Amino acid sequence: MILYSTKDRTHRATLEEAVFRGLPPDNGLYMPERIPELPAAFIEHLPEYSFQEIAETVSKALFGEVIPEDDIRHITGRALDFPAPVVSLDEDTHVLELWHGPSLAFKDFGARFMAALMSWFLKKRNQETVILVATSGDTGGAVAAGFYDTPGIHVVILYPSGKVSPLQEKQLTTLGKNIRALEIEGTFDDCQALVKQAFLDVSLRRHIALSSANSINIARLIPQSFYYFEAFKQLMPLKKPVAFVVPSGNFGNLTAGLFAKRMGLPVAHFVAATNVNDVVPEYLATGKFRPRPSIPTLSNAMDVGNPSNFQRMLDLYGSTWNNLRNEISGYAFDDAQTRQAIRAIHDQYGYLMDPHGAVGFLAWQAFRQTRPELQGIILETAHPAKFLETMESTLGRKIAIPERLARLARKEKKSTLLPPDYEQFKAWLEAHYKKD
Ligand SMILES: *Cc1c(COP(=O)(O)O)cnc(C)c1O
Repeated sequence: MILYSTKDRTHRATLEEAVFRGLPPDNGLYMPERIPELPAAFIEHLPEYSFQEIAETVSKALFGEVIPEDDIRHITGRALDFPAPVVSLDEDTHVLELWHGPSLAFKDFGARFMAALMSWFLKKRNQETVILVATSGDTGGAVAAGFYDTPGIHVVILYPSGKVSPLQEKQLTTLGKNIRALEIEGTFDDCQALVKQAFLDVSLRRHIALSSANSINIARLIPQSFYYFEAFKQLMPLKKPVAFVVPSGNFGNLTAGLFAKRMGLPVAHFVAATNVNDVVPEYLATGKFRPRPSIPTLSNAMDVGNPSNFQRMLDLYGSTWNNLRNEISGYAFDDAQTRQAIRAIHDQYGYLMDPHGAVGFLAWQAFRQTRPELQGIILETAHPAKFLETMESTLGRKIAIPERLARLARKEKKSTLLPPDYEQFKAWLEAHYKKD
């Protein structure tokens, strides 16, 4: 498997290089040189395969030249040990629940798969690595859970003290084992600056192998294509063409859907759903891409003003506006509409949908008017209990917290408080991870 940079097609990397570098040196994004088309018989017979088997088959088509078949089975088995069920609200409105993983959000699929893949490469090299992650909240939780107890990998999470929600903090600080949390007395930007400086520090990197777990890593993107096959499979008995509706921020999730289509999944259409951070819907409507500072909203994991995976979307469609428009429609909604949707879904269907999924529901309602021959699958990207305050104030009632979250709230926080000072951060890293 060879990858190239979206900024320069002549820049090539192996899978191992792309996974450990995260980004090409020219700041483009890695793309697979060849996206293999799966046999038509596989698509026709999808209902005979388990989610595991689907993930294995897709992985084999992509990574088969690099990773032996048994190891692929081990990697997908380790990473994807939770389901991706579809529930139906009405005849044509279906919800793909992507929150059954350890951090209750879809980022678990990518984070766990990347962890298993990195671990496989490190074992082959007989090497260990320290992953540094600066987080403002959510990403850190998925990465921590994803890499938990993974051989050969240590994780250091830096988060701004007092600036993440209590539950998010518990997700970062209660795991133990190979996960350590540093509570930085500063802002998210301070955390990010410390991580950046460590990567640039040659004397530190001589003794400690450092990696990142960036959200744009190709190893996080690819496994997100698996559940498009899995969802499609569950609706095949209905024999109606399918549109996927994707609540989007950085557009990794939607790009993974485009990959699935390229691999042969017969998706009729994609719907990009955003909050008021509507750079991509605006591009689809006007052909103009105008990145701008993000605006805070209730669906805060989608507050992105310059979606990084847009480069990959353009790359897949030859940078041609019309090609993108033919396959993807965009819709944007504000917080008042989001709250109305949460209430309507609750009252009409007795279903709890989180603010991100609710934006998707609104986009489906708008889009289905234009294409009544389609059925829609809305990706529900997080469990509603992760956004307890918004849900309860919108619905005017308490909602149940799943046992997994309740257990977390009772666990003891373990973190180390540090000032935003590079020399102290470096000394801490050396004390914990320096081998010689
Ligand atoms: C990250 C996230 C999104 C946005 O996904 P992208 O791949 O960045 O478009 C949507 N919903 C939730 C809950 C998320 O955590």
